[in-house]
Amino acid sequence: MSTSPAYTGRFAPTPSGYLHFGSLVAALASYLDARAVGGRWLLRMEDLDPPREVPGAQDAILRTLETYGFEWDGAVERQSARHDAYAAALDQLLARDLAYACTCSRKQLEGQPIYPGTCRDARRALTDAAIRLRVPDAEYRFADRVQGEFAQNLAREVGDFIIRRRDGLYAYQLAVVLDDAWQGVTDIVRGADLLDSTPRQLYLQELFGLPQPRYLHIPLLLQPDGHKLGKSYRSPPLPADQAPALLTRALRALGQQPPAELAQGNAREVLSWGVRHWNPAAILRQPSLAEAEVR
Ligand code: GLU
Ligand code: ZN
Repeated sequence: MSTSPAYTGRFAPTPSGYLHFGSLVAALASYLDARAVGGRWLLRMEDLDPPREVPGAQDAILRTLETYGFEWDGAVERQSARHDAYAAALDQLLARDLAYACTCSRKQLEGQPIYPGTCRDARRALTDAAIRLRVPDAEYRFADRVQGEFAQNLAREVGDFIIRRRDGLYAYQLAVVLDDAWQGVTDIVRGADLLDSTPRQLYLQELFGLPQPRYLHIPLLLQPDGHKLGKSYRSPPLPADQAPALLTRALRALGQQPPAELAQGNAREVLSWGVRHWNPAAILRQPSLAEAEVR
């Protein structure tokens, strides 16, 4: 790419299930925030964890997004094709002694809210071991565009965290930071369940000398039982024939005020209304929202 656009956003679904209403709201927020300023909007499949992937979910997610009128820029990138980049980054961290092998079993760590650092200076062999990142006793903070100031002391509140699992799978925290930078993402719009992952991501950006994107975390939609929508049960794919109605409802979940007739139109019309009227200041400044409250 020869130019660096002022705004590049992305939607980064995990294919551990179909798109549900909660992920539709996240897709819509990132899409509108990008398109309202004429920015780019990318799609990245976060398929890091094959055992947890639902067969057919990747295609189903892409088809639903198309049916719902979303158009993304460029090709869909897949994290499964990025293992070489993750391995190189991991090697660099190990070489700089910023990361180390950990052989603690789940049982050994039981009841410990934060990793106690058992393997920190033990120089364990890398084979059949998880890799953890050493975190500093320092506060990492950022100003979220909706949620405001957010800060965490990494040593006290998070602890040395896993960047490659013992089974060889790369961790989300590492992959997301490398990929957002590689794709030139300037703006991250996603669910507030990731608010408390952000300081870890800021630390990784600092270690790799990567630019820090702007962040906007939308309230996480909760099921009546208090769980994250789409998490504790297998949600069916979103129905194609309800696209305008569900997109209109998704706009309301984001605090926007679409006219009721919009639900009778088509998906493209809803998106285009959303782009023209996008008002991020109307998004509720709270980490979660009961789905039942969204009418
Ligand atoms: N793949 C993550 C998810 O589906 C989102 C990651 C992100 O937006 O940073 O929850
Ligand atoms: Zn350990």
